[in-house]
Amino acid sequence: MIATNYHHFRQQLDPKGVKLVAVSKFQSVEAIHAAYEAGCRDFGENYVQELVDKQAQLPADIAWHLIGHLQTNKVKYVAPFVHLIQSVDSRKLLAEIQKQAAKCQRTIQVLLQVQIAVEDTKTGMSEEEVEGILGELGAFPEVQVVGLMGMASFTDDLAQVQSEFQQLKSLFDRLVAQGVPAYFNQISMGMSGDWQLAVEEGSTLVRIGSAIFGERKNQ
Ligand SMILES: *Cc1c(COP(=O)(O)O)cnc(C)c1O
Repeated sequence: MIATNYHHFRQQLDPKGVKLVAVSKFQSVEAIHAAYEAGCRDFGENYVQELVDKQAQLPADIAWHLIGHLQTNKVKYVAPFVHLIQSVDSRKLLAEIQKQAAKCQRTIQVLLQVQIAVEDTKTGMSEEEVEGILGELGAFPEVQVVGLMGMASFTDDLAQVQSEFQQLKSLFDRLVAQGVPAYFNQISMGMSGDWQLAVEEGSTLVRIGSAIFGERKNQ
């Protein structure tokens, strides 16, 4: 089932050049292995301990994405191997990623998470904070800010979700017009319930969990 679901997504996303990250939080190592065997190499996890445990048990060529809120004191555990930290929600966190990347002598790629949802439970930075950071990238030489990430409101109101995706896309376009490095080219938006809308609105990377793996246990 996992392999079928995975191929189904790739068939729809590949022609559009949209990248697929399989969100494997709360899924077993066996389930991740099934997706890996089907060809998946990009997996997203929300929690540092779970990510570190799984990384140690799974093939080394997996690109691990951290997509959940990251506490500054835990950056050191993922810095040696993480592929993309999608959930940078403060300048303080970015500064810690810079510090740990330098320690590991590697460059770490990140996305800046923007608050687009109306609910205040969703985290992310304001547009002003994002612009501030992009204006001082020289302060983070070991960090590559490759784009933006956003989570839409959890609602059946598709017009609301659509307008939130449009908000993220127009911020992205404005930043590009103002001048950003060429590698700033990713917009991570869209999950199992709203990915089609996100792709229509310009997503370059979708984060799909339950539609590939089935419902999550112990949530
Ligand atoms: C859990 C999660 C997803 C995947 O959610 P599904 O609805 O299962 O596809 C995507 N992005 C983030 C940030 C998540 O926490």
